[in-house]
This record gives sequence, structure tokens and C-alpha cells, in this order.
Amino acid sequence: MTTPVRCGDVIIGGEAPVSIQTMTKCDTRDVESTVSEIRQAVSHGAQIVRVAVVDKDAARAIESIKNQVSCPVVADIHFDYNLALLSLEAGADKVRVNPGNLGGKEPLLKVAQKARSKGAAIRLGINSGSLERDILETYGAPTPGAMVESARRHLKHLEDAGVDNVVLSLKSSSVKHTIEAYMMMAGFTKWPFHIGITEAGPGNHGVIKSAAGIGTLLALGLGDTVRVSLTGPSSEEVEVAKQILQSVGLGFYGPDIISCPTCGRTQVDVVSVARQVSDALKDVSLPLKVAVMGCPVNGPGEAREADIGVACGRDGGILFARGKVLGRVASEQIVPALVRLAQQYAESPEGKN
Ligand code: SF4
Repeated sequence: MTTPVRCGDVIIGGEAPVSIQTMTKCDTRDVESTVSEIRQAVSHGAQIVRVAVVDKDAARAIESIKNQVSCPVVADIHFDYNLALLSLEAGADKVRVNPGNLGGKEPLLKVAQKARSKGAAIRLGINSGSLERDILETYGAPTPGAMVESARRHLKHLEDAGVDNVVLSLKSSSVKHTIEAYMMMAGFTKWPFHIGITEAGPGNHGVIKSAAGIGTLLALGLGDTVRVSLTGPSSEEVEVAKQILQSVGLGFYGPDIISCPTCGRTQVDVVSVARQVSDALKDVSLPLKVAVMGCPVNGPGEAREADIGVACGRDGGILFARGKVLGRVASEQIVPALVRLAQQYAESPEGKN
């Protein structure tokens, strides 16, 4: 188990559930837009939100932003450690720094000690794109081993100085390198891991890379807080993070729709039924498994495994709930019947009514 670290009112690591974070896309100096974007991300499920601190005005804006949002705010710093100090003065709950571009040992230590004095955390964000020259010369390339050596070097420096509020990330745009780096690093530290695939890209491309990388790490038991990086809105990053967590059994954010891929035996428009059911149940917050199967061959078996389900046939479907056959339903009644069953389930998840 990792060592718990406090970030505002969210604990990262230890026995705490994996937290979801995102980063705003607007200019942090525009307080109104930043507050609005943070609120939007929180309404989608973000628990921690990071903002880019590009200059002193952005650092100072954190005070006003913090007064208007409910979640911890993290300051994202590159190059100028004074901006990290200023952000902490303004109330940042955590600062994310890249030790590779902060200007050496002393600035890093100053930031870590300031964070500690403020009850804030510091994330060491090791990035394959900005490793130290001597490490690169030794390894010949920004390999997972090179990233781990860089992380260990900076950690030792902080630990020797008594710093005890560290979160660590080792990011590369290569999924394989990222996974290897975290696996390797887990053997050397108990500080919690912030995990993600950096610059994952737009749309499906970014979602798939993030799911492969983050999902694999979580399945290996690595990762205490998650950020999905997409070329898209921050609220979308949060939705994808929730789906990844749910898919590896680490959270329940809505019904799990199990629908068959369809094949030559399909007897109804499963794609449309599954989409309608998914839309109709999107606000149900229970860990409900809903099966929508396309035929009576494999359908009944799969549908029985779910909490509720339907195995579709030519003129309708057979409904199942809690492993029992409930009876037949006409094609046009499949979606309303599943929604009704989901509502009954939500009212009595233990099946006592
Ligand atoms: S459940 Fe039936 S229709 Fe769907 S993929 Fe399996 S065999 Fe094909």
C-alpha cells in the first residue's frame, strides 16, 4: 500500500479510492472561465482539478478560484519555481513540477518545503521529454529505466531533506514505456502514483491509449489518482476516467451495459436497443449490469448473468432479472420494460420488495 498524501480534502494513496482529476483548458488568469470549467468538471465527477500557471497573475488568480470552487486545486508549474511558491501562497492544494526543467536541486527543495509548510502536496512529474542530460547519456534514450533513475534521484534529494508529501508520476506518450516505468518504480517507493498517458491525442485515439495504459496499471494495482489527457474538453477526460475505473472494477459510475457484438444470428436491431437503454439509464447511479443480447442462442445465458437483461428474438425478447426468467415482451416494449426493471432494481437493489 502507498503512503497517503493529502491534497485539500482528498487523500491520494493509502486506502483511499483512486481519485479522478483533470486539468482546465482555459487561461487561468481568466478566473470566471476557469471557475466555470472547474465546476463543470466537478459536476461530471472530477475530484481534483489542475490549472496551468504561466505567470504571476495566473498564480495569484488561484486565491480567487479557490474561493469559488469546491475541489482541491493543483498548480501546474514549468521552469519558474517562484511561480510554484506564489501558487502555494495563493492557496494551491498541490503543485505539480517537472524536476527536469525547474532549475536544479535547490529550487525543487524550496518548493517542496513550502508545500509542506502550507499543508499542501507536491507532485514530481517525471516526463520522458525532459530527463537530465547525464541520465540520457547513460541510457542512450528516454527509456523507462532512465525515467525511474531520474525519479529516484529527485526523490532521494527530497527525502533526505525530510519532505513527506510527495506524489509521483512518470509519463511518456508511449503506453508500453509508461507501464514499464511505473512497474519498475513501484519497487523503489511507497509514495502514491498519479497515472496517465501524456499527450494521448484526440477522440478515440486518446481514449484507447489512455484505457490501455491506465487500465493496465490499475489492473496491476498501481495508481492512486488518475488523469486522462485528451485533446478535448476536461469534462470528457473525467467521463473517460470514470469508464476506465469502472471497467477494472474500481468504481461504479452508472449501469454497465453488456450488449452483444451482433452477428448473422441477430434478430433485432441490437445497436439501437443498446443505445436507447444506455441513454435511458445514464442517470442511474447503481452498479447495475444490464444485458442486451441479440438472439436466443447465447443470449439467455449472458442475460441471466446480469442484474437485468433481455435476450431478443424475432418478435420480441425474453426478460431476465436477478437470474430469473420474467417472461416474453414485444419488440417495441423491450426498452421501456428494461427501464422499468432498472427503476425497480434501483428502489430495491437487494431484491427485498
Ligand atoms: S448473442 Fe446471439 S446475436 Fe449476439 S453475437 Fe451472440 S450469437 Fe450473435
